[in-house]
Amino acid sequence: MDCLFCKIVAGQIPARKIYEDDQVIAFHDIGPQAPVHFLVIPKRHIATLNDLGEDDRPLAGHILFTAQRLARELGCEEGFRVAMNCNELGGQTVYHIHMHVLGQRQMHWPPG
Ligand code: 5GP
Ligand code: ZN
Repeated sequence: MDCLFCKIVAGQIPARKIYEDDQVIAFHDIGPQAPVHFLVIPKRHIATLNDLGEDDRPLAGHILFTAQRLARELGCEEGFRVAMNCNELGGQTVYHIHMHVLGQRQMHWPPG
């Protein structure tokens, strides 16, 4: 298994886990870009957003609502950002999809 996030799912690499169920896990980003910065990922390996299929609609919704709920629970209800980078041009560095959730600082647009 080459994928870093699959290794986190399997417990082979430690992570500061926030939430886990049968479909997703959420854990703090190792290089936080905001006071709150965590990732929500599917347990199943999906390399990029381009690889998400029609059958994955419930999973995609579950990732989004998990992000929303955890953002609230971590004190970000006033405002936060979610982001999913796709491929090199989109700034993706880990090829197992993950939704970034960043909060507790002022965000700006465009992100650069
Ligand atoms: P991407 O650039 O692919 O959208 O985001 C990958 C994110 O994964 C980065 O924010 C990076 O800090 C985070 N990351 C990379 N390796 C690890 C790791 O081993 N553990 C954790 N918790 N986060 C990681
Ligand atoms: Zn993976």
